[in-house]
Amino acid sequence: MSGAPEWRRKAARRSAAGQGPRRRIDDVTVSVEGRPRLGVAEVGRAVLDHYGLEGTLAPLPGEWDQNFRLDAGGGRRCVVKLANRGHEEGVLELQSSALDHLAASALTVRSPGIVRTGSGEPLARFRDAGGEAHRMRLLTWLEGTPLAGRLPLPAGGLRALGRALGELNLALADFSHPAMDRDLQWDLRRAAWISRWTHLVTGPDRRAFVERTLLDYRGRVRPALDGLPMSVIHNDANEENILIAGESDGSVAIVGLLDFGDMLRTNRIHELAVACAYALSAKADPVAQALEAAEGYAGILPLEQEEIDLLPDLIRVRLAVSVVNSARAEREDPANLHRRSSEEAAWALLMAMGAPDGARGRPRAGKPEADRAGEVERLAARRRKILGPSLSLSYARPLTILRGRGVWLHDAGGRPYLDCVNNVCHVGHGHPRVVEAISRQAATLNTNTRYLHPAILDYAGRLAALFADPLGVCFFVNSGSEANELAIRMARAHTGRRDVITLDRAYHGNTQALVDVSPCKCEGPGGTGLPEWVRKAPSPDPYRGIHRGEGSGRGYAEEIARICREMVDDGRPPALLIAEAIQGCGGQIVPPEGFLREAFDLVRAAGGVAIADEVQIGLGRVGSHWWGFEAQGAIPDIVTLGKPIGNGHPLGAVVTTREIAASFANGMEYFSTFGGNPVAMAAGMAVLDVIEGEGLRGRAARVGAFLMAGLRDLATRCEAIGEVRGMGLFIGVEMVTDRALRSPDGVAAARLVEGAVADGILLSTDGPDQNVIKIKPPLVFSEDDARALLWSMERALTRQGPRGSPAAGAAVAERRQRGCQSSSKRPA
Ligand code: PMP
Repeated sequence: MSGAPEWRRKAARRSAAGQGPRRRIDDVTVSVEGRPRLGVAEVGRAVLDHYGLEGTLAPLPGEWDQNFRLDAGGGRRCVVKLANRGHEEGVLELQSSALDHLAASALTVRSPGIVRTGSGEPLARFRDAGGEAHRMRLLTWLEGTPLAGRLPLPAGGLRALGRALGELNLALADFSHPAMDRDLQWDLRRAAWISRWTHLVTGPDRRAFVERTLLDYRGRVRPALDGLPMSVIHNDANEENILIAGESDGSVAIVGLLDFGDMLRTNRIHELAVACAYALSAKADPVAQALEAAEGYAGILPLEQEEIDLLPDLIRVRLAVSVVNSARAEREDPANLHRRSSEEAAWALLMAMGAPDGARGRPRAGKPEADRAGEVERLAARRRKILGPSLSLSYARPLTILRGRGVWLHDAGGRPYLDCVNNVCHVGHGHPRVVEAISRQAATLNTNTRYLHPAILDYAGRLAALFADPLGVCFFVNSGSEANELAIRMARAHTGRRDVITLDRAYHGNTQALVDVSPCKCEGPGGTGLPEWVRKAPSPDPYRGIHRGEGSGRGYAEEIARICREMVDDGRPPALLIAEAIQGCGGQIVPPEGFLREAFDLVRAAGGVAIADEVQIGLGRVGSHWWGFEAQGAIPDIVTLGKPIGNGHPLGAVVTTREIAASFANGMEYFSTFGGNPVAMAAGMAVLDVIEGEGLRGRAARVGAFLMAGLRDLATRCEAIGEVRGMGLFIGVEMVTDRALRSPDGVAAARLVEGAVADGILLSTDGPDQNVIKIKPPLVFSEDDARALLWSMERALTRQGPRGSPAAGAAVAERRQRGCQSSSKRPA
């Protein structure tokens, strides 16, 4: 480590392989401008004043600090470091304290020692001639050659590297400091920040590699880190910071470790991952090399099996962070060729590591790909044998989903999928608070409602409080279908009438009465048509319907008025109108302004009752309001709830007025064996706690707006998108073959969905032509999740090649055949 050219090379290399200029979460305070620029003479005086040392000072490169080499005579050599003005005091203390700790540990791998001032301090403070304050440290000089010159390592080198890091981490195992829990972009627990920058990676294949690595990290690797050992680590064992000495037999010994500037407390396995990201060769099997380093490490400090399993994933993530950081740096300084050449080395290793989904590289979670495919076929065959054939499966290659957490579902091979379509697990799959509430209550009592119990009263009170007067009386059931069935019975009991108005394309449930009021079922394949007691109004679709654009709300309301008039004239006035505030299965149809309000008012004026089916869209999903009908200024007489309110635990509800509830109490007892049981009530209560506690309604509004803006931007570049519509996190993207003609393109939609699932993203389609991509994720969906979804959709839409794979064509045909009910074909 001597001679200026080597140091310059070091600076160039460091910045390159994605390391520089260092981007930290504390970038705001640590900047190039904060680097002191003192003259040699002034520094020499300060060194003499504070350390009593005299000698020759030669500048050393430094990204953030101003550094010198001090030759103090008698062979004594030090590094003089003038700290960047932005460095936090605590972080400087952390480094000094750790270096003192290591010096006392007498390791074979050396680290610089802190030289103390004349008064025994680890840091000297002085003012320069201009009066500005400085913080100066002196470190002992370590002899050795940077590892950079000896790569690829000779046989046994990686094992030696692993051993050295094991020794270091063992010495740090009992070290702690108040500043160790720092925010640092190079912390592999924080790697998700790169999702804001992946768009700068050029080349679709490279971008896909990074995006898939990131999805796998966010869905699988990052959650696993929470259960693994933590420690203070060096966190930057790159090829310039590792010093080696050659042995006479041609092997290398790791003799020193420099630059503790990135140290922090994190998962200790990151120490190895970072080192491997620099020391592995792309020319041989990198996973085998990483395991060799891990063996060396474990010989000193035993590793848990899960740490070893995650090591290749963490190396991949560190490389992804590096290449994204390089892409960022490249944009800021495109002329820097050094940067690009080193970036290529990182890319080469990243590609050699293989894609995280097991398409290349090691098989994941134990089972080879071929075995897993066989298992899928075996399960599908059993299913065909034992379950009714009218049940369907999602996706051309069905998924075996075995676990869920947050916005992620995991298949049998452990692969995470970003769930963009499940509006049932509203507050996230397996939310610990909901799980805990259900299990605690299940262990205490579960029985029917013919006993007094506070849970049903507490939940009913809390739910009713989310509605404006006069809605305020609750009935509990077990599904959306039961809720709608009960709502229809109530409306009939209240009005003494029988006939129903429904909207075209609607889906309201799977009982006979509900199939009869669901045109997409009774008028679809296998249906027997609308019964004589059901009247169908047009779907209020301002994009493709019979009235379009602004002002079409009036037109659609006029259709309701006409139907009411006809029904009255026929002597069969309506008992009720049932409608969703945004039609879900109908194709994510947001009705035009004024329609729903007027429609409900018109039905009431005709003596009927207005039922708002909030089974799919309710409970804060639309963001601005708790309920979709509120967002449209409409006032229903009965509201039906299902899917999200139990977060997957079977729970449905009907909320109505005291008057209608009284009419329903006509002598016939209402009883549901499971409806309103204490376990379901505990689930419902926990869901409300989480929505309020985690601010999920606000999040739906914020992330939904972000996603919708991204989709609209995508539409400016992709002719195949006819319209983007929705509210909050209930969004539809309508695919067309021709924008002017608005001709539906179910094949493009199916292709997009299949492309997304290959990327690890779950989507689905809806609408009579199955050409509307529906997006309705758990409300814990984040901006990072939205970015991943946007990337995958853009990739599918801009991919070259013939329109529609055979699989996509078959999928759309099959979906049309099945009709529109979403819940049978996917977790709607
Ligand atoms: N109403 C609407 C609007 C729905 O989307 C669904 C289910 N897809 C239902 C009712 C029926 O709910 P469940 O499947 O829980 O019976």
